[in-house]
Amino acid sequence: MSVIKTLMRKSFMNGVRYSGLSALFSSALSGVGAVLMLHHVRPDEGGTGLNRLLHIEPDFLDRLLGELKADGARFVSMDEAADRLKSGRFDERFLAVTLDDGYRDNLVHAAPVFRAHGVPFTIYVSPGLTDGDADLWWELLETVVEASGEVAFDAAGVTRTLSCRTVREKHQAFAVLMNHALNEVDEDEQRAFVRELCDRYGVDREAHRREALLDWDELRGLHADPLATIGAHTMNHFQLRRLDRERATGEIVRSADVLGERLGDRPRHFAYPYGGPEAVGAREVEIAREAGFETAVTTRHGTLMPAHAENMQALPRISVNGEYQRVGYVETMLTGITMPAANRGRTFVTV
Ligand SMILES: [Zn+2]
Repeated sequence: MSVIKTLMRKSFMNGVRYSGLSALFSSALSGVGAVLMLHHVRPDEGGTGLNRLLHIEPDFLDRLLGELKADGARFVSMDEAADRLKSGRFDERFLAVTLDDGYRDNLVHAAPVFRAHGVPFTIYVSPGLTDGDADLWWELLETVVEASGEVAFDAAGVTRTLSCRTVREKHQAFAVLMNHALNEVDEDEQRAFVRELCDRYGVDREAHRREALLDWDELRGLHADPLATIGAHTMNHFQLRRLDRERATGEIVRSADVLGERLGDRPRHFAYPYGGPEAVGAREVEIAREAGFETAVTTRHGTLMPAHAENMQALPRISVNGEYQRVGYVETMLTGITMPAANRGRTFVTV
């Protein structure tokens, strides 16, 4: 998203905040509750912020939970969110907190905040990432660009060279590399492309994984925590729509099998990797339902409505991300007022 668009959205959201949130919470758009989506939670380490969208700070999380509770929100687990949707129990607005990918900072920095507030949370894990069969390739690309003055790669037989000397150039180069990985090659080529770049520019993939992601012992520890739920996030974090049906099914089903074997309970909740229209559609929803998941969440922008009871494997979320680290922005998004603009006018969001 462009900076101007972000600023416009922010000033719009501030305007909304001061024009009276309570009235908006009672509007039809705010629905019966929402699922919040987080990724990394850790103190800001500076840097060029190429993946800034995916980080929030623990202090912000602390303030956010405190203020939302003061606003009257009831925080529930995904199990309870599912039960409330299915049973039509909408006597109070409910919020479920979810975190994608299984980052270690979720345990180190986020879990203490959740415990202090008594807020349940769900972490969606890809066993292939945990085991190193798959890479956090978007973070590795960030590391390559951060560490290099120039990045060269081969695309359709032609070598492209990107200058990455200034912060501006790093952002431009990162955008080109992300576009190549997401749109110009298939999912297998994408992984090979990033591994090749890591080899060429001396980025240690194993070290990155060990530092960034929870290991199985840590996941077992979280699984034993009554506040925490471990959900599935496919085996290898592919864009499912870019896989054939058999492979997409295997990615979804096997992640539940492996988490069940390693943790003792088969997960009941699932998150689609990437989660946007390019990654999940009706076919993926059908597979997740057939795989037996109670709920599955996308990254579509939206609040929960009673009719989601019939669409439990296509639940939208509200992103709590690094671009919008103000309680007011999240509160405004929770009113649902930003939902039509983000969904071509729709006020009930599935896939
Ligand atoms: Zn993910």
